[in-house]
Amino acid sequence: MITVVGSINMDLVVRTARFPKQGETALGDLYTTAPGGKGANQAVAAARLGGSVNMIGAVGTDAFGDELLRNLEAESVGTASVKRAEGTSGIANILLSDGDNRIIVVPGANHSLKAEEMAAFENGLKESGIVVMQLEMPIPVVQRTLEICHQHGVPVILNPAPADGFTEDFLPYATYMTPNETEAEELFGPEWEHMLEKYPNRLVVTLGSKGARYFDGQKHVLVEGFKTQAIDTTGAGDTFNGALAVALEEAMPFEAAVRFANAAASLSVEKFGAQGGMPSRQEVLQRMG
Ligand code: ATP
Repeated sequence: MITVVGSINMDLVVRTARFPKQGETALGDLYTTAPGGKGANQAVAAARLGGSVNMIGAVGTDAFGDELLRNLEAESVGTASVKRAEGTSGIANILLSDGDNRIIVVPGANHSLKAEEMAAFENGLKESGIVVMQLEMPIPVVQRTLEICHQHGVPVILNPAPADGFTEDFLPYATYMTPNETEAEELFGPEWEHMLEKYPNRLVVTLGSKGARYFDGQKHVLVEGFKTQAIDTTGAGDTFNGALAVALEEAMPFEAAVRFANAAASLSVEKFGAQGGMPSRQEVLQRMG
C-alpha cells in the first residue's frame, strides 16, 4: 500500500489574452475547474499505475470538498483518512496568458491538519510499503509524519516542493528526495550536484525533458527522458513521484524505477491538465518498449 500525505486542491483556471494591470479588469476566454494539489495529483498518478493508494489530508466543508473527495474515490484512491475541516477547501487560482501563468494558492483546509493528529494515522502509515509527501502541508505535519515513518522503518519519498518549506531537519528522515533542478539549487545551492554523492540512490533530481539524475554510489547516472511532444507539463513532477512510489514499492531496481517514472511523466505532458494526462500502467509499459 502507498500512502500519500499531502495537499488536495481545486484548480480554478482562467485564460485571458493579457493579464490585467493593477486595478484593471480584463476579459477571460476560458474558465475551468480541475482537481489538483500536489498530494492528490501524486495519489492519482500512483493509483492509475496500479498502486493501492490511501490519501491522508484535508478538504473543506464546501462544495469543492465534496467534488475533491468524489474525484479521489473515482480514481480508486482511499479517502477514509481525508479529514473534512470546517471552512473552504484549498484552491489554486491559476491565470494563464500566452504560455505564461500567475498562480495564487490558498491552502484552506490543507493547513488545518495538525502534527498531533498524525498519531491517529500511525497504523496506516506503519502498514504502508512506502509513503509519499510534499511540502504543501504544514511543516510540523511533515516533520511528525517523517518521524513516525522512520520509527517504523517505512520508506518515504519526500518531494521538496515548494522548496521554501524545506528544512535540513528532514534530511536524515527522508529515504528518497525528488527535487526538480530549480528546487535542488534552492535547497543545496549552485553546487547541488555534489549533494547527489552524499545521498547515493536516495536523491534524484528531475531535469524536465532531459530525464532525471542520481548517484549510484560509484558513478553519476543520467536516466534519459523519453522524447515527446509536450503540450502541458503541469503535473509532470507529480506523475514522476507517483510512478516512482509504485515502482519502488514493487522493489524495482533503482535505475529501472527512475526509468518507469520518466516514462509515466513523459506521457503526462502530452495532455492538458495535471491529472488529465496521467497514464495507465499499460501505456507506460508500451512507452518503455
Ligand atoms: P512540473 O512542475 O511541470 O510538474 P517539475 O518541475 O516538478 O514538473 P520536471 O523536472 O520539469 O519537474 O519534470 C519531471 C519529470 O517529467 C522529468 O524528470 C521527466 O521525466 C518528465 N518530463 C518533464 N517534461 C518533459 C518533456 N518535455 N518531455 C519528456 N518528459 C518530460
